[in-house]
Amino acid sequence: MPSWLVQTANSTYEATIARGCLGRIAEALPASAGTLFVVTEERVWNLHGPAVRDALGSRQHQVLFFPGGEVNKRLAAVEDLAEQMLARGADRSSVVIALGGGIVNDVAGFAAAVFMRGIPVIQVPTTLLAQVDAAVGGKTGVNLRSGKNLVGSFHQPLAVFIDPQVLATLPEREYRAGLYEIVKCGVIRDAALFRLMAERPADILAHHAEALERAISDSVRIKAEVVSADEREGGLRRILNFGHTFGHALEAETGYERFLHGEAVAFGMNAAVSLAVSQRILRESEGRRILDCVAAYGPIPSLSGIDPLHIARRLVSDKKTVKGRVHFVLPDRIGSVVVTADVDQGNVLRAIEAALAQ
Ligand code: NAD
Repeated sequence: MPSWLVQTANSTYEATIARGCLGRIAEALPASAGTLFVVTEERVWNLHGPAVRDALGSRQHQVLFFPGGEVNKRLAAVEDLAEQMLARGADRSSVVIALGGGIVNDVAGFAAAVFMRGIPVIQVPTTLLAQVDAAVGGKTGVNLRSGKNLVGSFHQPLAVFIDPQVLATLPEREYRAGLYEIVKCGVIRDAALFRLMAERPADILAHHAEALERAISDSVRIKAEVVSADEREGGLRRILNFGHTFGHALEAETGYERFLHGEAVAFGMNAAVSLAVSQRILRESEGRRILDCVAAYGPIPSLSGIDPLHIARRLVSDKKTVKGRVHFVLPDRIGSVVVTADVDQGNVLRAIEAALAQ
């Protein structure tokens, strides 16, 4: 059973990947833990709540429902959760259990980060995207009207339980959106993981247990390594943004409604690959392999009617822009990336046009 250690300046914890590990959540609870607060969505609780209830057994726990959705990932939801926790007897010994996708991960994690100046959280991700990305690494937060994830905190969990079994109930589109993040992990740091994704799309799409668990485990290992080396994105952690610079611009341009996050990342990887090839950072044949691999998990919804110039303009307002210069994460071969701001603006526009035409 794979289990990867995340070690940051102030915390060390395990991310465990195993079928049925939902049943082991209680193992991560400190002996001193008081009332437990499971924060989840009703839909997720109906599907997977019974397993969590069994796992918690006689431990005193309360279930708090969050309505879900990007529009509700707001400070108001955090306040609401905190009020409900207080009303049900929470104190500094309480522990939050975040059961759901990346949105529950972010909101419940942030609520735990700020409730009475911080109580522990256990992350139990139930979407593929949350399993391979959001739940590991301690980033929590909410959206402002002005943009996504603009208020938040680093709050590392006590433990992360990644149970591939819960993915059986995930809608197909959400599943594929998570697969793009796994492709990303392969491109940035692990040629063997990339080969798995490139050579076995039929198995991966069919939830083949061995292939899927290897893909999840390798992605979590990469995230754990990167976060352990650079918790606050001062350096290495930036490589995780491969595909995200262009992807965030697409999400913002389309009002966060037309594409799932992972789909926008797929678009962004295509654009970044085109840019890397035109900048002569990446060989064309390697670029083609990445584009083919992304396509194997597609298609993403239609990109018609999107103006490439609008996407280009939005790149500059990305949160990750440093002093007005856009930093691009570009592959120099499969399994390795460079971060550079030194790119030709004409190439950037042509890369967006190429990705919009995919
Ligand atoms: P999500 O949390 O909205 O979940 C997608 C949908 O799947 C929801 O409708 C949910 O109810 C449903 N669902 C969840 N688990 C299910 C299951 N097992 N079976 C059936 N349905 C299930 O979306 P997401 O893609 O998981 O997360 C996206 C969010 O994650 C974004 O807000 C993004 O900003 C955030 N994110 C955070 C980080 C981070 O490091 N903190 C990283 C990546 C993304």
